Amino acid sequence: MKVVFDKKCLEYEFFSHPESPERVKKIKNVLEMLGAEFVKPEDITERELLKVHEKKFVERLKLKEYFDPDTPCIEFCYPLLSAACAVKAAKVCGFSLARPPGHHAGKNFLGGFCYLNNVAIALESIRKEDEKAVILDIDAHHGNGTENIFFGRENVLYISLHQHPLYSGTGRESRKNCINFPLLPYTTGALYLKTLAKAVEYIEKISPQIIAISLGFDTYVNDPLSQFMLSPKDFEEIGKIISGVLKNVEKWFIVLEGGYAEDVDIAAYYFFDGLWKVV
Ligand SMILES: [Zn+2]
Repeated sequence: MKVVFDKKCLEYEFFSHPESPERVKKIKNVLEMLGAEFVKPEDITERELLKVHEKKFVERLKLKEYFDPDTPCIEFCYPLLSAACAVKAAKVCGFSLARPPGHHAGKNFLGGFCYLNNVAIALESIRKEDEKAVILDIDAHHGNGTENIFFGRENVLYISLHQHPLYSGTGRESRKNCINFPLLPYTTGALYLKTLAKAVEYIEKISPQIIAISLGFDTYVNDPLSQFMLSPKDFEEIGKIISGVLKNVEKWFIVLEGGYAEDVDIAAYYFFDGLWKVV
C-alpha cells in the first residue's frame, strides 16, 4: 500500500497538545516496519478547497483570524499540506499519514484540532458528479464537519461510528444521507465490530464507486480522549473488515484523523497488519 507522507507535517507543535508530531512519527515507524511504500504529496490549488469550504472561511484560515482553544492558530501551509496528502492518497488509492486531522472542519468552521476537511477535499477532487461515494468514519469522535459538508448531498453517503456523548456532541441520530451509529462510553470490541458490520451492510446496499475512510485510532482502549475499549486484536479485525470493503471498489483512500494514546503504534500495527492481509 502507498502511504502519502511529508515530514513537513511534523514541524509544528503546541505544548501538551494531544495532536502531536509524535503520534504521526510512531505510526510512520509501524508502516516502515510493515514495508509500506512512501510517496510525496503534490501541490493542490485553492480551487480544490473551494469545492468544500467557503471562500471567506479559507481567507480567515490564511490570515489566522480565528480563535479556538483546541485548534490553535497555525500557518496555513500545514492544513493545506494535510489536504494535499489526502488528495494524493485519493489519486493513488493509499493512506494519507498527515496532520492536522480534518473531520471536525465544516464548510465554514474549524474545531477539534481540524482546519480543513481533508477527506472531503480529497473525495471531491476525484469524484465525478454522478459517482456514488461513501465516507466511512471510524474515528472515536463524530465527524461533524464532514456531515456539515455532505448533508443532503446526492451520491455521497456519510457513515460514522462514534462515542456519544463526546466532542462534538453531534451525531446522535441519522439524518438523510448521514448514517450515525452513536455508541456509549466503554463500548467493547464485540459491540463495535457488530456495529461496523451493520455499517458495511449500508455500503454494500448502495455499491459505491468510491470509498473513503476517516481513520482514527482514538477508539483504542488506551486513548486519553475517548472511553472506547478496543484492543489490538479488535484493530486487526477492523483492518480486515475495511480491507474486505475496499477490495470491491476501484477508487478508495484512507485518511488519518485522531489517535492520541502513547502506544498508538500498537493499534496502528494491528490495523494495518489486518488490512494488508487482504488488500
Ligand atoms: Zn477523534
